[in-house]
Amino acid sequence: MQNKAIFLDRDGTLNYDPGYISDPEVIKLLPGVVEGLKYLQVELHFKLIVVSNQAGISRGLLTHEQVDKVNERISDLLISDQIRIEKFYYCPSHPEFSTEDECKCRKPSPKMILDAADELNIDLSKSYLIGDRASDIESGLNAGVYSILLASDILKEQISILQNHQKSANFVADDFKNAVSKIAERTKKEI
Ligand SMILES: [Mg+2]
Repeated sequence: MQNKAIFLDRDGTLNYDPGYISDPEVIKLLPGVVEGLKYLQVELHFKLIVVSNQAGISRGLLTHEQVDKVNERISDLLISDQIRIEKFYYCPSHPEFSTEDECKCRKPSPKMILDAADELNIDLSKSYLIGDRASDIESGLNAGVYSILLASDILKEQISILQNHQKSANFVADDFKNAVSKIAERTKKEI
């Protein structure tokens, strides 16, 4: 049987986003994230997969090692609550600093999601994406997963980007908890 997954953006979705996070000590999880991930994993049996653009690497502002350390820190914070992130995918590239080929992983491309689906045997039709930016939502829609946009200070801008691309999120959630409730409601309908 195939797995089902929640594809999670990292910065601004799981943790506060001060921009180009190089120091693991800066990581602070957003409200509702621990409880929400635990529910998704333990009660609803989703695998949790992070898909993140980390263009700070190609900009020379971050190293791969720093991004890995930050990801480890997030894992450590969650493992103390018995929550396991299956895998962190990230795209280091940016069109101004990288080749077109190197940018193939960059959201809104669905590549990280499609790669994860292959590697981890994920049924995308039963999977979800949660993110705070238009590029997250487009990546999810491009991969064929139900995509939830989190409300934030940048929500209006993200909705207008999506509108300009003739796209829209499947659901706009007030916060992480609301996103999890929506997934729970839809999952229970399937049963
Ligand atoms: Mg984000």
